[in-house]
Amino acid sequence: MRGRLIVVSGPSGAGKSTLIRAALDAVPQLAYSVSATTRAPRPGEVDGRDYVFLSREEFERWIAEDRFLEWAEYSGNLYGTPEQKVEEFLDGGRSVILEIELQGARQVRAKRPDAAMVFVRAPSLDETRRRLSGRATETEEAMKTRLATAVEEVAARDEFDYEVVNGDRERARREMIEIMESIATGGNDAARP
Ligand code: ADP
Ligand code: 5GP
Repeated sequence: MRGRLIVVSGPSGAGKSTLIRAALDAVPQLAYSVSATTRAPRPGEVDGRDYVFLSREEFERWIAEDRFLEWAEYSGNLYGTPEQKVEEFLDGGRSVILEIELQGARQVRAKRPDAAMVFVRAPSLDETRRRLSGRATETEEAMKTRLATAVEEVAARDEFDYEVVNGDRERARREMIEIMESIATGGNDAARP
């Protein structure tokens, strides 16, 4: 059986990466799509594992070569999903998580209507702000842009099939794993909200 595309989206600082890591550890049928980006690596990020880090020129060449399933500009940088690797995972029966922002999520939904759409958010904008400043990876300016975008993103949450409100860590972790397990094992579609 071919795997399923899974889009995970939501504001920066919502806890998407944290929850995705937990799901990947718990559900062997899942794979992670490593995106390409023009943003600079954060301390600890590894090229090819966290992102494929490209110059703007290289990224534009990949666009011209039609290598992306979707791509978008976010907070001044380009981000995109290389399509070939995703197809290999799906053909091998693994379901693939794309951790992408809203414009990309909409492109995937339009191209692949069978994709499962999962929205992750913190309980409030204030909490999103606290988490972003706690993570301490963004400049003041980048944090402002990300928080402004967060308002638009939360307004679009009805476009998704599932929503995880990441308040209590353990509870959100369990919820995420349950959702991913059900999608990746071809769970009962009738149970989808
Ligand atoms: P995203 O991938 O959505 O940008 P991260 O997973 O990097 O978000 O999480 C942002 C920050 O919030 C990190 O420092 C992370 O440790 C923290 N965090 C994640 N989940 C929770 C939670 N449920 N409660 C409090 N802090 C959290
Ligand atoms: P960050 O810079 O915090 O790693 O990511 C910023 C935003 O870009 C996040 O919302 C993340 O989900 C999104 N993103 C990461 N990879 C991709 C991608 O391949 N395509 C799109 N459209 N968004 C991405």
